[in-house]
Amino acid sequence: KLSKRLETVASFVPTGAVVADIGSDHAYLPCYLIHHNIATKAIAGEVVKGPYESAVRQVKLEGLEEKITVRLADGLKAIDPSDHVNTITIAGMGGPLIVSILENDLNRLKNVTRLILQPNIHAKVIREWAMQNGWAILDEVILEEDEKIYEVLVLQRGDMTLSEEQILLGQHLLNERSEVFVKKWIREIENWRRVLTSIEQAEVTQEIAAKREELQHLIALVEGA
Ligand code: SAM
Repeated sequence: KLSKRLETVASFVPTGAVVADIGSDHAYLPCYLIHHNIATKAIAGEVVKGPYESAVRQVKLEGLEEKITVRLADGLKAIDPSDHVNTITIAGMGGPLIVSILENDLNRLKNVTRLILQPNIHAKVIREWAMQNGWAILDEVILEEDEKIYEVLVLQRGDMTLSEEQILLGQHLLNERSEVFVKKWIREIENWRRVLTSIEQAEVTQEIAAKREELQHLIALVEGA
């Protein structure tokens, strides 16, 4: 059974999609998408040998070799125009790593119409990247599983302008204000306050002063939202 986290990612894959799952590890997500007749074809990309081998093994075990191709490659280098991939999923990494994977091979996104991204931390950098690169947020989900909070961002081509607040919190998530969302940001504010208290004891260098100002700004931003 797939985790709630990956099931949420899967729920945004359009029926009939050709999917590339980048950083696929065991290829659980592509296997699920094929078994449930959501994707017609999938590529599982992995840059590390061990996880790549797990993916190959899993695909074989499930008898899906005809529909899932596993490739050992860095990021989007796992896909080629002849694959006709139209949907990309990248899950279980930090936002900055996800952005660097996209940024490193922008030309390989030409035929792609949907990105489903699940950053473990720093979703903010994905929203910033999307805004600057002609992608708009179609939907966002925040969920909790095993005491961890995850965000899933669904992007399609389009223009959007987000405020600083919306970049940090996510406009859909902010509108919805779910219990998990509130919990996440209460926790963040607590962390920021803890850091503030600890640097109050420190000698005031320019760096400390800047950090203090940044934290106070973030707290005010989130509390005011
Ligand atoms: N996507 C799966 C999930 O969400 O459960 C696996 C997440 S796992 C924490 C991250 C995987 O991404 C690792 O297997 C790692 O080897 C792979 N990875 C990291 N950077 C990558 C890159 N540039 N290209 C392809 N895979 C990458």
